[in-house]
Amino acid sequence: MAIETIRYVKTAVRAVALTFDDGPHTVYTPRVLDYLHKYNSQAAWFILGSLARSRQPVLQDIAQGNNDIGVHAYDHVSLTSLSYGQIISQLERTRTIIAEATGRSWPYLRPPNGAYNETVLKAAQSIGFKYNVLWSVDPRDYEASAAQIAARVLAGLNPGAIIILHEVTAPTAQALPVILSEIANRGYQAVALSQLLELAGD
Ligand SMILES: [Zn+2]
Repeated sequence: MAIETIRYVKTAVRAVALTFDDGPHTVYTPRVLDYLHKYNSQAAWFILGSLARSRQPVLQDIAQGNNDIGVHAYDHVSLTSLSYGQIISQLERTRTIIAEATGRSWPYLRPPNGAYNETVLKAAQSIGFKYNVLWSVDPRDYEASAAQIAARVLAGLNPGAIIILHEVTAPTAQALPVILSEIANRGYQAVALSQLLELAGD
């Protein structure tokens, strides 16, 4: 199967995937996991190998909550600026850290800055990645207040939406309880990416 680029999942089911880039973070990730647990929800992380290397217990906690851990890259670098071999190295090193921490790996790539081309896709596919995961809702949380983040996410709520968030500033975690309770109020569920993909066509 060729690697597939997705921005959302086609489904009529009221389910969405929250995704967290640029972690794992030693403060924000545990906070996010607590909120997800409280609201009986899941999410996906796209992690940086360079950070995860010394934060393997955080990866274990993410996996233990039935969440997904995909690869962002080892460094936060646009993969389109690298050679084929360098791309493989960025992805492989990160996936190895995930596998060492959790005993498994997930076939999901989200390229830093959303930057990809044929070379990136070919390299990712050659080592077993099955989904190039982009997004349909971008609240630009890295430069927004918690209230703005919540309002923007909820304005974009749609069956099958993939929502991009980051673990670089506190407001994202602060916005999460509002987002999760309103998701439930509107009859939606925040699910893991793997769960959302299973709803395709439903
Ligand atoms: Zn990023």
